[in-house]
Amino acid sequence: MRAIDCFYAARQERYAWMQEELDDWDNGSRMRVLQVTRWLENGWMEREGKRLFNLASNHYLGLCPWLDEATLMNVKTDCFAAGEAGVRIGSGASRLVVGHDPLHAELEQDMANFKQRDRCLVFSSGYMANVGVISALVGRHDTVFSDRLNHASLIDGAVLSRAEHIRYSHRDMNRLEHSLRKWSGDRVTRHKGLIVTDGIFSMDGTVAPLEELVVLAERYGTMLMVDEAHSGGVYGVGGRGLCHAVGVHQRVDVVMGTFGKAFGAFGAYVAADEVLIRYLINRARTLVYSTGLPPLMAAIVRRRLREVQAADEARDRLIRHVALFRARLRAGGLHTGAGDSHIVPVLLGSDRHAVAAGQALAEAGVAGIAIRPPTVPEGSARIRFAPMASHQESDLIWAADQIVQVVGSLKEDATDESNESMFQ
Ligand SMILES: *Cc1c(COP(=O)(O)O)cnc(C)c1O
Repeated sequence: MRAIDCFYAARQERYAWMQEELDDWDNGSRMRVLQVTRWLENGWMEREGKRLFNLASNHYLGLCPWLDEATLMNVKTDCFAAGEAGVRIGSGASRLVVGHDPLHAELEQDMANFKQRDRCLVFSSGYMANVGVISALVGRHDTVFSDRLNHASLIDGAVLSRAEHIRYSHRDMNRLEHSLRKWSGDRVTRHKGLIVTDGIFSMDGTVAPLEELVVLAERYGTMLMVDEAHSGGVYGVGGRGLCHAVGVHQRVDVVMGTFGKAFGAFGAYVAADEVLIRYLINRARTLVYSTGLPPLMAAIVRRRLREVQAADEARDRLIRHVALFRARLRAGGLHTGAGDSHIVPVLLGSDRHAVAAGQALAEAGVAGIAIRPPTVPEGSARIRFAPMASHQESDLIWAADQIVQVVGSLKEDATDESNESMFQ
């Protein structure tokens, strides 16, 4: 045997535990794989040579997913106007070193105006923002209160902060207040509390009770952080977000959002008071120790921001599309959960059932992806559908009918309807 083969064989042996776990996931309908996907016009896509109606993206407003000539020209103009020698591709360093480009500064100013807060700080992704912000704001002696259905990045931020992590049941303000009361009775004065919540919950489409959260944070003297990943660009005047729509944007300590979803680009922002942003610049490790967002992307996002602000028609269309789509699924007898936002889950229960539904839907020409634990709680596997403003109404109606048919026919064969009760 050649030396290289020996090394390979030895590694295979050492990796046996991985293979075992992969086999388990495969048998339990929990295997995840990458599938090459080509985006097409009008919210369609192509996968494995098959044309599919794309109901699985977060590109809610349906802004053009491609960098067209006009945008490229605008980006160049903006870069020259900012005094750049050209369109710079990479930051070349952490923004704290020599990576803070004029385009970052401009984007942060535009975003601060948009969010009507002192200051904004741009991160390279929403995941990085959440992990960086939470681990900067709280530490070992502090407490994070988070909704049980919060996004993984918020959970990871809490874990990394080493703070005590108290998870309250979904949107249950009584549970939260109970924990807050106990915490405020026990705590040493200088220990901090932070409540974190998704604005719109990513896998359920439910809406956080922001007014009540603001009141509780004020009453118990904790900070409040709202993740607008799914609501930014979609809700509020000009797409300013859910905090604006509800009128609490000045009362939330940290409003965070991503440019990866409705904006259809990449990167993320945090909007807050000047002092909090200055603190993050010094302490958010995902900002300090990582290369800044590409200036190219900052320039693209600035242009996107204008498009998002001007997208009232797309927002109206999205709301109409979702109402139509959800009503049709419900009329077909499907469980679409408790939410009424632009995210429409169809709750199926077992992983096997969700995977089978995803496959049958793909056969029928609809891309809706099975979401399984640990992304969602055990026994609540589902397909998450997200209509886009760029979809055609006739396509949406057709897709809803396919979904009703596919899920209906699977239900008849299903033997393990393990969790009906949790859908009530
Ligand atoms: C997608 C998402 C994020 C992460 O944002 P990225 O920019 O994709 O890293 C954070 N929070 C929530 C609720 C999300 O859905």
